[in-house]
Amino acid sequence: MTLLTNILDYNQQFVQEQSYEEYRTTKFPDKRLVILTCMDTRLVELLPKSMNMKNGDVKIVKNAGAVVSHPFGSIMRSLLVAVYELQADEVLVIGHHDCGMSAINSDSILDKMKERGVADETLETVNYSGIDLHDWLKGFSSVQESVAHSVDMIKNHPLMDKKIPVHGLVISPETGKLDLVVEGYK
Ligand SMILES: [Zn+2]
Repeated sequence: MTLLTNILDYNQQFVQEQSYEEYRTTKFPDKRLVILTCMDTRLVELLPKSMNMKNGDVKIVKNAGAVVSHPFGSIMRSLLVAVYELQADEVLVIGHHDCGMSAINSDSILDKMKERGVADETLETVNYSGIDLHDWLKGFSSVQESVAHSVDMIKNHPLMDKKIPVHGLVISPETGKLDLVVEGYK
């Protein structure tokens, strides 16, 4: 049995037993909040539980590292949609200690791509098309600095409502403890 058939079997039962009832809510966040955080597995349940958030309370945008790396990429677009269309009135950027993106090494990723069959010519073509792969795949050395930088990008984005507070925090993936990096009310 594959992972996918496992999931689909479980899902059939979940729907049949109407297990979804306790999760019913709307697409608008009751706490009027959007969070940008990391895709780390340890945060899947720990982050919302440690903040007293349940289904329906919050929009959560995730990527590797909780970073806004491009002002007109899909992360920034998601945050703008949350604010203008989905009633989010505050933004939280939550990085975490021991993040995979802090240890990431672009040389190592590129080597692994080659090991798995991505041709040198393909990497060269991408480079020639104007994308610096080393830059694109780079991580960060300080999670606090990374969070502060993302907060800055969101806050100063030309399309963002200047009245929306943007906060920055760092969470422990072990205990869920939050440390404030940027308080957005000022
Ligand atoms: Zn992470």
